Amino acid sequence: MSRWPIGVFTSIDAGLGVPLHVAKELGLDTIQIHAPKPESRSAEHVARLLQQLQETGVEVTAVFGGFEGESYADIPTTAATVGLVPPGPRAARLEEMKRISDYARDIGCSVVALHLGYVPHDTSSLEYRAVVEVTQDLCGYVAAHGQNLHLETGQETADNLVQFIADVGTNNLFVNFDPANMILYGQGDPIEALVKLGSLVRSVHCKDAKWSDQPGVTWGQEVPLGAGDVGMERYLQTLQQIGYQGSLTIEREIPQEPERQKAEIGHAVTLLKRLQDSLAPST
Ligand code: MG
Repeated sequence: MSRWPIGVFTSIDAGLGVPLHVAKELGLDTIQIHAPKPESRSAEHVARLLQQLQETGVEVTAVFGGFEGESYADIPTTAATVGLVPPGPRAARLEEMKRISDYARDIGCSVVALHLGYVPHDTSSLEYRAVVEVTQDLCGYVAAHGQNLHLETGQETADNLVQFIADVGTNNLFVNFDPANMILYGQGDPIEALVKLGSLVRSVHCKDAKWSDQPGVTWGQEVPLGAGDVGMERYLQTLQQIGYQGSLTIEREIPQEPERQKAEIGHAVTLLKRLQDSLAPST
């Protein structure tokens, strides 16, 4: 009996995940979904998705928001364009996240997630205050749907993220931990970060990466699970140590190569099952 269900990051019509049918073909238990475009969130689309989920027995554990105009081309571009931090599109993106929360409610999912963006580090600045306030606004909205908000890791150090969540001060703001992002963005050792975040971690990605030779300046390199610097055995041991309860959601973002993407996710499933089986029993 596995400790954690295994899942995969999927896309319906937006984002870099695999199509839904791949989860079924790989025999997975859960999926996270990249929020579909507004035109694909109608009652008819929702009914079709709910039927597919019922037929496959797959559970949706989170709906991830993403926005027009975001670019992950390089680290400075990411900082300038991603999430609710850039002030220009902030109000419109907040409204879009609220519609994504509505969609998550319609498909029966109690977690909404996103990359918030590069939160300003000067906690006394007006910009920091503005990001705290927009996050409080969104947390209040999703709470009314009985939902939690999960922040994807990568753009912050663990210490900054703990501070930020405390400053927001709602009881429904948690972390979607992505160990590879900590490496890709050069924001600190992923295992140390996982220990610091501890019980704030309510969902995780299983993704691997190699450090850049200039961490935090240029991207590291995303690689197949087990081939990078995360150390998957140590990762699962640490998840056990912090008492993690949730899915292991595999993320492999190479949709331009669908066959390779599916094959590598299949290998990742095998690796995660084997590593789970070799973990010492919980005491
Ligand atoms: Mg991720």
